[in-house]
Amino acid sequence: MNRHVPPDPHMAPVQSAGPAGALLPGRREMYRAFARRDSAYEGVFYAGVKTTGIFCRPTCRARKPRAENVEFFASASEALHGGYRPCRLCRPMDPVPVPPPVVARLLRAVEANPGARLTDKDLAAMGIDPSTARRRFCAYCGLTFQAYQRARRMGLALHEVRAGRPVIEAQLDGGYSSNSGFRDAFLRIFGKPPRGARSDDCLIARRIDTPLGGMLALADRAGLRMLEFMDRQGLENEIDRLRSRLHCAVVPGTNATLEAVETQLRRYFAGEQLGFDLALAPVGSPFQLAVWGALRRIPAGATRSYAWIAAEVGRPGAQRAVGRANGSNVMSIVIPCHRVIGADGSLSGYGGGVWRKQRLLDHERAFSRTTPGKSP
Ligand SMILES: [Zn+2]
Repeated sequence: MNRHVPPDPHMAPVQSAGPAGALLPGRREMYRAFARRDSAYEGVFYAGVKTTGIFCRPTCRARKPRAENVEFFASASEALHGGYRPCRLCRPMDPVPVPPPVVARLLRAVEANPGARLTDKDLAAMGIDPSTARRRFCAYCGLTFQAYQRARRMGLALHEVRAGRPVIEAQLDGGYSSNSGFRDAFLRIFGKPPRGARSDDCLIARRIDTPLGGMLALADRAGLRMLEFMDRQGLENEIDRLRSRLHCAVVPGTNATLEAVETQLRRYFAGEQLGFDLALAPVGSPFQLAVWGALRRIPAGATRSYAWIAAEVGRPGAQRAVGRANGSNVMSIVIPCHRVIGADGSLSGYGGGVWRKQRLLDHERAFSRTTPGKSP
């Protein structure tokens, strides 16, 4: 894996789920997590130490063995079956330890009103020092408090969308108990559907699960308007912008475009078909649309530089503007902004996280039939 890719707390649980049984993250990733005692991997893997015959949690405070002396297991049971006995320090057979009191309080506060957003001011009002709380939360949960809240809101808002089951206005208005949080979360993120709006007049939202995490897809009759990873920072603002540009509400549901997106994403991740044949209806300025069009001409398995895109849209030298247009793409994967890399070959940034960019590029290189292109 690329050295620039940060350890990836989101990837591990996603990979370990899945119908094929417990898949583990890559060996190097696990060893790095084990060496750093990364709590994000707690429960994701267990490490057997060949030299001692003991198996540990990722977070064990015992001295870490060399990489070649470690064997990884998806469960404590598998480690036992592998001939290892549980470590007395980290007690891998015990249930995961209870969270520190301040973390428990934060978790309870979120659950009291999961659609809301707890700010530093709110925490201070609860007598909690925000910076300490944030640090503790991150250390225990493996993601920031902000990211946790965002994930909880988005997950709640889209809970009913998961199965493609439409939730209509009537249900929004009365079908949920006020403390379920669904209604708050949904209205907060997607706004209130206009009275009597038919679902085919609106932007329809559907959650699509992928091996790289849950995605949110928005489409109307014109075509796909947005496809983004649900944990992307700023996603709520992007939805807001789209809603006001299109003057419409968002309702959960599905339509032909969204069905096609889901089918084609499944084939993409299975390596069966890396290209997409979808009705796309991106919302942007003429320059943004030109850049996004150029992105779609980069073949899967290849990468291009910002300078290449600039020349392609007839604005040689406009790398910065191209970079901004690239970053404002909200149709991940299908408009492949992940195929643009720095002139020096570095990955540069990615809205969905640089680790995802790396995974997408690795995946496309592995499965593209064409000769991988070179960055000019
Ligand atoms: Zn241990």
